Amino acid sequence: MSPRIGVFGGTFDPMHLAHRDMARALRDELALDKVHIVPAGQPYHRAQAPQASAEQRLAMARLTLGDEAGLWVDAREVRRPRPAYTVETLTELRAEYGEAAELWLLIGGDSLAALPGWRHWQQIFTLANLAVWQRPDLPTPPLPPELAARWQARQVADFSKRTQYGTIRALTLPAQAVSATAIRQALAAGQPCAGLLAPAVVDYINQQHLYGR
Ligand code: ATP
Repeated sequence: MSPRIGVFGGTFDPMHLAHRDMARALRDELALDKVHIVPAGQPYHRAQAPQASAEQRLAMARLTLGDEAGLWVDAREVRRPRPAYTVETLTELRAEYGEAAELWLLIGGDSLAALPGWRHWQQIFTLANLAVWQRPDLPTPPLPPELAARWQARQVADFSKRTQYGTIRALTLPAQAVSATAIRQALAAGQPCAGLLAPAVVDYINQQHLYGR
């Protein structure tokens, strides 16, 4: 059987339990064999640089996920000595898993509108399918026209040809209204975030004096 692989990228500054729960839900909903959780190395499309270093964000992702089946922290973007682009990561994964593999790029609705600003974004659809879900804490911005046309076309095709790349699938999943931004702000204000972060991540943040702790 061809493997079904998910790619869940993000800044993860820090990874929180909603990220973990979403990765689990995506794995189960799409029946993925493995989800590559890919912390961004030098995020080029964010207005502000992450507060934690790439290595610290990687460490917190590992502490959050432990050895959970099917969820795997992938350090390739952090290790890349130049800005990392999703298209490159997908090209590498396509080469590693072969043409028969089903690759799914997993992104929240807030990130989807920005997709046409990503490097060689159209090429992404030649490498992977896209799974998108709405975040309850953020509105899903309107789609730019270049993406809206593709979105409609792919929706019509629906998912009968599951091995064809470029499918877009909209998912309704029980996402939580939690963001890393809100967590960073709460930590800086001295508020506890125990229920939102893995206990080992809380300890790590305190040890490393991250986010004003
Ligand atoms: P920040 O607040 O710093 O922007 P974030 O919590 O939004 O961080 P990212 O690292 O930017 O986290 O997100 C990685 C991926 O996880 C994105 O696709 C984003 O849409 C998704 N995501 C983040 N938080 C949630 C949430 N609460 N529910 C569902 N998806 C989420």
